[in-house]
Amino acid sequence: MVGIRHGHLRPGVVIDLKGIPDLRPAIEEAEGEFTISANTVMTDLEEDERIARHFPALIEAARVVGSVQIRNRATLVGNISNASPAADTPPVLVALGASVVAWSTRGERTLPLDQFWLGYRQTALQPGELLTAVRIPLPRRPAGSAFLKLGRRRALEISIVCVGASIELAPDGAIAAAGLGLGSVAAYTVRASGAEKILVGARPDPEVLAAAGEAALTAATPIDDLRSKADYRRAMVPVLVSRAVAAAVTRAKQGDRQT
Ligand SMILES: Cc1cc2nc3c(=O)[nH]c(=O)nc-3n(C[C@H](O)[C@H](O)[C@H](O)COP(=O)(O)OP(=O)(O)OC[C@H]3O[C@@H](n4cnc5c(N)ncnc54)[C@H](O)[C@@H]3O)c2cc1C
Repeated sequence: MVGIRHGHLRPGVVIDLKGIPDLRPAIEEAEGEFTISANTVMTDLEEDERIARHFPALIEAARVVGSVQIRNRATLVGNISNASPAADTPPVLVALGASVVAWSTRGERTLPLDQFWLGYRQTALQPGELLTAVRIPLPRRPAGSAFLKLGRRRALEISIVCVGASIELAPDGAIAAAGLGLGSVAAYTVRASGAEKILVGARPDPEVLAAAGEAALTAATPIDDLRSKADYRRAMVPVLVSRAVAAAVTRAKQGDRQT
């Protein structure tokens, strides 16, 4: 709507998906994964205690999208499809290994989320396709996740850098699985796979977290824009990555003690 008002977008037709019964708000858990339907808004996520328990980072991200009024209208799927490199929930969803379900009259297909964005504001959606759901696998081991957003103010803010981290711990305390998504540092939300590789198999010591933070820079190609300079973004990526991983590890340990 902002794009239409500014004249950047001139659609011939605007379709409201909110009245389509098959897309009605729903958060369902079955067969080891959560399915979040297309019309589920940020407020629905914030209020769901299963999401808070399994994916606290998603609540942290949903909670800082715009204002209350925006969060009552903004869907998770819209946040993904909008393909903004600065969107808040995509780094978390990438870290959690989420996938999206694309539907058209030709059929349905599932895509890993990190293959959904092709470039700045470009998605893999074909003409006639829409997203019907997001799927997030449940972790199989003690797990924790965290989201950190750096902005110039704390509300109604688009990030300078944002990071989603997800960690699973092995019984010996080593990191068994790691997911890291970065926002506002490339043309679209990116996975920091180099950093993930450093974490997997290692113990979450400060040196390992710092090395993962530095490695995350290989996924970052930031630019100067009105919110920040590329150099500042580059300086902040290692800081936010190591802090987000540390927070995710702490949550994984706390969850382990509760079970
Ligand atoms: C004032 C304001 C503040 C904001 N602040 C933030 C913020 O802090 N953080 C943040 O991340 N975002 C922010 N946003 C962006 C926006 O709110 C989110 O991206 C929102 O999640 C979009 O969801 P929506 O359902 O309204 O999608 P829409 O805005 O209706 O659609 C967004 C795009 O996705 C496409 N789309 C929507 N649903 C589907 C579907 N089911 N299948 C295929 N394509 C689809 C649309 O065609 C469109 O191109 C802000 C927006 C405003 C206006």
